[in-house]
Amino acid sequence: MINISASKKIFSGLTAIGILAMFLFCPLSASADGTDGEFVEISDAAGLAALAKSPGGNYRLTDDIYLDSGWQPIPFSGKLDGAGHTVYNLHVTSESSDTRVTRDSDLNEHDSRFAGLFSVAEKAEVTDLNIKGAYVEIESKDNCFAAIFAGYSDNTVFRRCSVEGRVRLTNNGVDSGVGGFVGFGTGVFEKCNADVELVFKDSNTSELCDQFMGSMLACGIGSINLCKVKIAGYASCNGYIYSGAMTGLYSDLGTPFSNSRITNSNANGQINYYQGSRSKKAHCAQFNGSLRTHPERRENNKYSVKLIETMYNSNLLFPEKCNDPDYEETVIPSTCKNQGYTEHKCRNCEYSWIDSYKPLNHDETEWITVSDSDNEHGGIKRKYCKKCGILLGEEIIPPKSEKTLSDSFTRNTIWAVAASSGVLAILEILVLSRSRKKKRENIGANQDNSELKKRLSEGKDSGQKSILSDWKKDGQVRFLPDGKDSGQMNHLSDGKDSGQITIPPKNSKK
Ligand SMILES: [Zn+2]
Ligand SMILES: [Zn+2]
Repeated sequence: MINISASKKIFSGLTAIGILAMFLFCPLSASADGTDGEFVEISDAAGLAALAKSPGGNYRLTDDIYLDSGWQPIPFSGKLDGAGHTVYNLHVTSESSDTRVTRDSDLNEHDSRFAGLFSVAEKAEVTDLNIKGAYVEIESKDNCFAAIFAGYSDNTVFRRCSVEGRVRLTNNGVDSGVGGFVGFGTGVFEKCNADVELVFKDSNTSELCDQFMGSMLACGIGSINLCKVKIAGYASCNGYIYSGAMTGLYSDLGTPFSNSRITNSNANGQINYYQGSRSKKAHCAQFNGSLRTHPERRENNKYSVKLIETMYNSNLLFPEKCNDPDYEETVIPSTCKNQGYTEHKCRNCEYSWIDSYKPLNHDETEWITVSDSDNEHGGIKRKYCKKCGILLGEEIIPPKSEKTLSDSFTRNTIWAVAASSGVLAILEILVLSRSRKKKRENIGANQDNSELKKRLSEGKDSGQKSILSDWKKDGQVRFLPDGKDSGQMNHLSDGKDSGQITIPPKNSKK
């Protein structure tokens, strides 16, 4: 390591080189994701849609995303780190053009189409991402699997993700399904939650089709651990039906999948179903509709799901209980403390749902300089909400001399060193944020945002702390823990921009 014994000013650049050397040569400082690739930051709907251009890339959300103009399902095979953020208002009305081979319960193969945030997710990894207010609404003449995250999954990993929303599929094919997370395929689901309304209607009266329904996975196999689902399921099928709260048909379908276990998970809700064919029994069960693979690999799960078999054309097969719904829309505007949304409620049967979430509505001030920088020390500028006074952003003003030095010496030198190492983007962050990092308390690498929010909401932490979720991303947290006011978490991801997550007051839990 470089030993610094001379003037701090002169050698501040070398300190940065030292820090850089640490990162380059110390294996412990490698990215926790195990990838060498940079994560492209996504902060809006256009950024998310741009995944389609490079579906194998690594992406990280820096803000909640509101998909207000509809969504075309895209294939994905990269890494997507939601960083605890939420994608709101996913609305999908058309299948993808991508097809993959799916299998029915008799292992017959079919070309199928898919709908969801992703049409097909292949060896992808999705972490810490929530989807809320989703509506996937498909009418298909083909075989089709519709779900909120991915219509089709080949070995995709979902960790600490959640979905909340509705999926409706009217289908004319012979092999189809509706899922909360995934329609057809294989995957790993860990610490994932689903709160979904799933509706399947079979419009093919001339063939005996297979229909699958499950909140985590409609048809296929996977490792499911520490997951929680709540289902409102409505399935009508002229052929054969496989529905369960966690999975529909749980089977490797002839392709052994080594990680097939369902453990420590729970399910509740209700499934209403009709099966036209009486030649075999409806495969509907509370947890796994039908289980063909390793039933002994289920441990420590709990479920309480009401199964209601009913007649075709029964109004129990749809969440709307009346034949002629008449909806009243109520728009709840956003305030400083609460998200806005639209509630739709049927005047006749009281069926209702919520969609069109809106972000908090603060009124930002200009940037206010709190302390100016001098030659040695960085300064701080902030902006607040004019209405509620909450801090909306904070930026570091770099020390004047350091900036000069980094322009004339440090930056050029380090960029030259780093050019061969492919870590250009990090260097500027290191140099500009070095002084402020020293003042902060690191409360843990890879800090989980939800855990952090919980700790803060419980008043276990107060004042100001920082998180360094990995060495590429710097974060900062503030909290006003008196139970009356909300706290907030500011991300200063690159020293130029900032984002915010608001933490509700601890005594206003719903
Ligand atoms: Zn109604
Ligand atoms: Zn406000």
